[in-house]
Amino acid sequence: MSTEYIRPQGLDEALGLLQERQDVTILAGGTDLMVDRRSEKIRPRCLLDVSRLPELRRIRTRDGVLEIGAAVTISELLASGTIARMAPVLAGCARRFGSRQIRNVATIGGNVAHCAPCGDTIAPLLVHEAQAVVAAPGGTRTVDIGEMAGGPYQCILAPGELIRCFRLKPCPAGVDLADFQKIGRRRELAISRISMAAMVRLDDDGGVDFMRFAVGACTPTPHRFREVEDFLLGRRPDEGLLWQAGRLAADTMIAITGTRPSAAYKQPAVQGLFLRMMSPLLQPGRKSHA
Ligand SMILES: Cc1cc2nc3c(=O)[nH]c(=O)nc-3n(C[C@H](O)[C@H](O)[C@H](O)COP(=O)(O)OP(=O)(O)OC[C@H]3O[C@@H](n4cnc5c(N)ncnc54)[C@H](O)[C@@H]3O)c2cc1C
Repeated sequence: MSTEYIRPQGLDEALGLLQERQDVTILAGGTDLMVDRRSEKIRPRCLLDVSRLPELRRIRTRDGVLEIGAAVTISELLASGTIARMAPVLAGCARRFGSRQIRNVATIGGNVAHCAPCGDTIAPLLVHEAQAVVAAPGGTRTVDIGEMAGGPYQCILAPGELIRCFRLKPCPAGVDLADFQKIGRRRELAISRISMAAMVRLDDDGGVDFMRFAVGACTPTPHRFREVEDFLLGRRPDEGLLWQAGRLAADTMIAITGTRPSAAYKQPAVQGLFLRMMSPLLQPGRKSHA
């Protein structure tokens, strides 16, 4: 079966086509979609290429909010001084994402819309309390990033809707740690088995006065682990305390997934990765940014 290909010139034209036709599938970088098409998981009749829509290609700040267009590629995230300054966790994620060829075409919008549990950008977006701005012919709505997936590979977008951009709260001033970590089966070009994103700030006495922490890949959808944040807030990290917090992260993961055969590996792996990520906090005065 042949597939029609349409590249609209602007957002209004794209939204008009989405309204007019029921048989349209949104295409961005194609790094997920074309794989699914080749394996016949999907059989799109018409591909609507949004990858060059100017409205989806911007990185900008507005009223203190960082806005990232859905069609911004992972390489563009990596090259952006604004992202390095305002969203260092996302920059760290971009650095460890796929290969250069993949980063050059894969978009942040496609990563979120695909809703793979291992989608690397979602945990960083969670620690930035990001919202997706969703456009439809009738207007726009915002969706919290944690609500975008109804389950693995189940995007909540209705037919006719597309993600225009993401709005992020910038990294607060004076943060001592802003990091993204992942582990997979290989060092490079590996699907994440566990990913973590965190921002932590210590007060003058060395106590945690700000923390956001999210985990991806090892739960059906990425989650913010507020239990771990609450456990550490107001306390001074030492190795024993971070070890306990890591155990709490592992227990929180198990509470979400239930005990599976992989728990024997994942529980200590989550605890160990957490300790590795947080260990710069044990060296006071040393800021650690991804
Ligand atoms: C070799 C290889 C390595 C990879 N490595 C990684 C990795 O390290 N980390 C990682 O997280 N992923 C990785 N991926 C997966 C993939 O690259 C990402 O998920 C990518 O970000 C998807 O974006 P895309 O632009 O290619 O989306 P596409 O494949 O074009 O689309 C994906 C889905 O999103 C929908 N979509 C796209 N844009 C929009 C929009 N604006 N609004 C609504 N729906 C939209 C499409 O309809 C489709 O359902 C890898 C893939 C490959 C092939």
